[in-house]
Amino acid sequence: MTELGDEQWLGLYLEEALDPQRMAWIEKRLREEPALNRLLERLRREPSPSAVHSIGMAWVAGRLTCPTRTQWSKYLAGLLDTELSSYLKFHLELIECPFCRANVSDLQKRGASTADAAELADRSARAAGWSRPNER
Ligand SMILES: [Zn+2]
Repeated sequence: MTELGDEQWLGLYLEEALDPQRMAWIEKRLREEPALNRLLERLRREPSPSAVHSIGMAWVAGRLTCPTRTQWSKYLAGLLDTELSSYLKFHLELIECPFCRANVSDLQKRGASTADAAELADRSARAAGWSRPNER
């Protein structure tokens, strides 16, 4: 589902940056895979800044800046460049942002042609302090 390596998963695990489901998944793997345990021990002793912080920062940044509905429409239509598209994929599949997941499933239902109207609606919803995406 994602292209993260074990080192990056463990980095997120150590930072407690994963959702409970994935924390449990890592813990299960740690019980079953001695090699993964050794890697975890190594990361505990000497955290790898490139692996941990780039993903950790991306995670934090991802939480703060959700893509717009227009971007999601383009993502679904395959119109984004590779870099942005992989960021959106990361946001959706690794972070599993509930707001964006609701947005995307809604867009998939409607089709992408109403993207501009949706973007306006989205902005007013946010401005109004909308916090429960499933209510739409
Ligand atoms: Zn989001």
